[in-house]
Amino acid sequence: MKIREVHIYTHNLPVKNGPYTMANAEVWAVDTTLVKLVGSDGTIGWGETCPVGPTYSESHAKGAQAALMEIGKGIVGANLWPVSLNRKMNTLLNGHNYAKAAIDIAAHDLIGKSLGINVADLLGGSQTDIVPSYFATGIDNPDNIARIAKEKLKEGYERLQVKVGGRPVENDIETIRKVWEVIQGSKMKLAVDGNRGWTTRDALRVSRECSDIPFILEQPCNTFQDIEKIRCQVTHGIYMDESSVDLNTVISAVGIGLVDGFGMKVTRIGGLQNMRTFRDICEARNLPHTCDDAWGGDIIAAACTQIGSTVKPELCEGVWLAAPYIDGHYDQKNGIKIINGKIPRPKGPGLGVFPDESIFGAPIESFGD
Ligand SMILES: [Mg+2]
Repeated sequence: MKIREVHIYTHNLPVKNGPYTMANAEVWAVDTTLVKLVGSDGTIGWGETCPVGPTYSESHAKGAQAALMEIGKGIVGANLWPVSLNRKMNTLLNGHNYAKAAIDIAAHDLIGKSLGINVADLLGGSQTDIVPSYFATGIDNPDNIARIAKEKLKEGYERLQVKVGGRPVENDIETIRKVWEVIQGSKMKLAVDGNRGWTTRDALRVSRECSDIPFILEQPCNTFQDIEKIRCQVTHGIYMDESSVDLNTVISAVGIGLVDGFGMKVTRIGGLQNMRTFRDICEARNLPHTCDDAWGGDIIAAACTQIGSTVKPELCEGVWLAAPYIDGHYDQKNGIKIINGKIPRPKGPGLGVFPDESIFGAPIESFGD
């Protein structure tokens, strides 16, 4: 099957009870970018990419739009099958995985809808219809974060990620200790996410002073090299998130045993085709990982949920969604929701969601018929 039309849309998503705060960013609203592909048989598929502001990673909304403008014309008439399509996109633009991801996701949705197959099955087969999520706190004072931990434990979340960095490290240590007082003895797993915000000095200090608390250190420092430097000096397991920018970096990190798992984002790695390869690399080395996205609405949430459901359950660290921070759905009936810390997987064809495109207004650009 071939691509007949490509349409690009943008949509503003305000952050509910904003801002959302991380070590390097304060986010009040995000601009999401949507792609609608029309196949040669008239079937429609949707994709989405939504960088969380311009400073979280090497991506931003205007960059996604510019990249999609560059690629859009060249993929009209191209083969929709994901391996061919990704190779084609790479002949049209170097890099910009996060933009290509929107097209890749739309192609998976379209193929699934055309064949009447759910995307989880296209990706190898779902292992569960109820996918675990996890809750990520923003950065706030220790008592507030401990209160959130209590609430989320009660709601049924089995994993909590506490954001740290961008402030005196003593506050981070106090936060970790207060959260541990709340969740100690429960089933809840703890990750401490620096979002690149600590120096290696800070990371070493936290690991040393909290050596009695079992947590995962997620992307404590800024670079691959920082992680190499602290790897043999910390007692905590290390997950890589923002530094794992593509499959090549993942293979390098896995190959030298640099990490114990990953926080992975579907758009950062380039979409579902690359994500399934990542999933299989992790399974070969028995490495746990998440299937997240930066931010976005029902389309990206559905893509993350579908691939998350195909991960070997004991290696699945959950699917993080922006849904709790965003009002409304693109698809009122099948929109993705987190219930008691878990995400029911939509089982319809394709991604299982059918966006009401009137929400997005007119496309900012169209290619094809
Ligand atoms: Mg992270």
